[in-house]
Amino acid sequence: KSTHPDVKERTLIAVKPDGVHRRLVGQIIQRFEQRGFKLVGLKMLQVSEDLLSQHYCQLTSKPFYPSLVDYMTSGPVVVMVWEGHNVVQSSRTMVGPTDPAAAPAGTVRGDFSIHVSRNVVHASDSLEGAQREIQLWFQGKDLLNWDCCDQSLTM
Ligand code: ADP
Ligand code: MG
Repeated sequence: KSTHPDVKERTLIAVKPDGVHRRLVGQIIQRFEQRGFKLVGLKMLQVSEDLLSQHYCQLTSKPFYPSLVDYMTSGPVVVMVWEGHNVVQSSRTMVGPTDPAAAPAGTVRGDFSIHVSRNVVHASDSLEGAQREIQLWFQGKDLLNWDCCDQSLTM
């Protein structure tokens, strides 16, 4: 019997255009690998306004939404699916609060950003949100169920 916890929880993480522009993709991926999470999907794309309005469906009526569209379509994003125990909540902690001014050092936003309008990274905020976002950004066939030769590293 396996002593490992269930490992099927997944979340969507994206490096936003400012993160790509500033060459932060590697450092952000490194933090998730180092923590022990498993990368099961990865792609780079130029986001359409349509996809963005679905991704941010709860924000489209906010006053900052037009500037958010400009920001998120200003260049390519790198979008990823990470898997592991409690990955949704742990990722939010690793990314830090929405406003980088409130983000502690040691978080992605606390280490790499200063303003809410350029906060470098996206992380799903709940299990339900993660499932919705993963389906929106990825086709099932592009998420890979790979196993490591050393089972102790697959948690
Ligand atoms: P989070 O990305 O932490 O989940 P939200 O879902 O509330 O935060 O907002 C989505 C994104 O919209 C933020 O990451 C940020 O890029 C942008 N945003 C949120 N609030 C503001 C604001 N007041 N002004 C400008 N941009 C904002
Ligand atoms: Mg959010």
